[in-house]
Amino acid sequence: SSDLESVMLQRAQQIIVITGASTGIGAACASHLDRLGFTVLAGVRRIADGETLKAGASARLQPVLLDVTDAASIEQARQTVAGLAGLRGLAGLVNNAGIAVAGPLETVPIAGLRRQFEVNVIGQVAVTQAFLPLLRQGRGRIVNMGSIAGRAAMPVMGPYSASKFALEALTDALRLEVQQWGIQVSIVEPGAIATPIWTKSGAKAEELETVTSEELKSLYAGVIAGVRARVAEAAARAIPPDAVAQAVEHALTAVRPRTRYLVGRDAKIRALMIKLLPDRLSDRLMTWILKQPH
Ligand code: NDP
Repeated sequence: SSDLESVMLQRAQQIIVITGASTGIGAACASHLDRLGFTVLAGVRRIADGETLKAGASARLQPVLLDVTDAASIEQARQTVAGLAGLRGLAGLVNNAGIAVAGPLETVPIAGLRRQFEVNVIGQVAVTQAFLPLLRQGRGRIVNMGSIAGRAAMPVMGPYSASKFALEALTDALRLEVQQWGIQVSIVEPGAIATPIWTKSGAKAEELETVTSEELKSLYAGVIAGVRARVAEAAARAIPPDAVAQAVEHALTAVRPRTRYLVGRDAKIRALMIKLLPDRLSDRLMTWILKQPH
């Protein structure tokens, strides 16, 4: 156990920043890495969420106010983290913050599409830019929270899926750009995980409906109903976020981290389908599974 003690002491020196740690996967990663002994700096948008996190964690964990779409907030967080890290730099950055904007592409408000990319794509790059000097200093690692939706698209999930496809490309480009400093870059690709994203995006779908005309709504009623039914089924089978936290742990600590981590049986099956099936066959299968009008 003195071995364990020395590992814990060593880990306490390693600082990991996680964005979007208020709920769901981010919160699970924060408490998992905290339990492992790391010093976790948990990005939240509200002080109250930070207090809740602190209440369930060690004294090492510190919340940091961070809105990934706000340049001033990112700079403030960077300064706070730099002050805490000193010469050690950062051991890890987990780019987890994300939202899900849903809707058929003909009806999705363009502002919603912009918001989707602002949070899930632009925000991830902005945060990465801010923390890279500290990661270089600490030979830290970057873990991006992708999704199986970043490998395989679905009707109604176009905006979300496109943002996660973009994150895959950013991950691949970044991995090659920063390898010269020994900075590892991985992407985690979970299937359905039980988090509030379902209710948060549920609320968003309702918001979207209010701005969509009755005519468009009825044109896409069949498309939406099929996807809704399937998403409800997936939500019922969603696995706890701990599985994702395990993958993040591996990406941050393994001697040879993987470039991609599929998490969940559903994600693995979907990835295999995409790899093996020609587009037309895949379309027919999805049309049947999602009960799509055709
Ligand atoms: P949650 O909604 O529980 O978590 C999303 C987190 O992102 C929250 O902490 C939220 O903070 C934060 N966030 C949203 N907008 C911003 C912003 N502008 N700046 C900073 N933080 C922000 O959902 P999940 O835990 O499910 O989602 C986490 C990640 O996992 C996302 O990237 C998601 O795409 C991905 N994912 C989720 C899957 C699932 O099935 N749940 C599957 C695959 C991937 P706040 O509370 O303040 O809104």
